[in-house]
Amino acid sequence: MDKILRTLICDGQVSLAVLETTELVNRAVEIHKTTPAASALLGGLLTCGAYIASSLKSTRGSVSLTVKAKDGDGAVSVSADADLHMRGYADGTCSHTLKCGALTVVREDGFSTRPFVGTCEILSDDISEILETYFGQSEQIPTAVALSTEFDNDGKCVWSGGVVMQLLPGASENSIWEATNVFDQFKDRDSIAGRHKVLTDAKVILEDVFRPYVSGEVSTLFPEYKCNCSEEKIRDVLASVGKAELLKICDELGEVKVHCHYCNKDYIYGRKRIEEIF
Ligand SMILES: [Zn+2]
Repeated sequence: MDKILRTLICDGQVSLAVLETTELVNRAVEIHKTTPAASALLGGLLTCGAYIASSLKSTRGSVSLTVKAKDGDGAVSVSADADLHMRGYADGTCSHTLKCGALTVVREDGFSTRPFVGTCEILSDDISEILETYFGQSEQIPTAVALSTEFDNDGKCVWSGGVVMQLLPGASENSIWEATNVFDQFKDRDSIAGRHKVLTDAKVILEDVFRPYVSGEVSTLFPEYKCNCSEEKIRDVLASVGKAELLKICDELGEVKVHCHYCNKDYIYGRKRIEEIF
């Protein structure tokens, strides 16, 4: 089962999250039938989104992340709420490099009226580096990220997850040194995926690598692919379009079809159902 384990390490001066999002990525691939390049990008971004969502303090909070390639081939969008209900989609094949594209993060913290919008240029194709750059530039939080998403030859995700560490304000030199060391140890096991037979569980990673450094309670969160679209919401959207316009479309096309990009579901309304809305 997918999970995110969060705790403090190094005298409580560094936050640690160990993520396991393999099922989430497989669900997204299954829904969207993505190309390998798009699967990797969507999977990586869902994992980043799950991390940011796991930091939300209010149950009303939400976050969305979008990456856009500069040449226009491939935009990937992901959104999440504070319950870690995740959804996303990939537009295009994402076959080109992301470099020189941009990452935009929109975060509703659930307390203020305006969302926080952060953006950064993408300097690498590696999702870990993209997230590090984002936190450094847009939020000024020193962050170390080692996330990976690996697939077998049939396109099935065999491992997605890894580690995100962030320095808390005022972290001492000693804690920074210790945190850097343990992070390097974790990364040093070559790619995490290279060991995925052993490290396919966030709990094992926490125990195996980080246990001696843990200095706080460990909380566990469960990310899950879940779209929040519903018949009710679609009806609200259609009501705002207006009856005359909908009936016109219905006359021309035989039906009104609303497609949800996130879960790939079609909502179909014939004449009778349109009449019912009004
Ligand atoms: Zn949906």
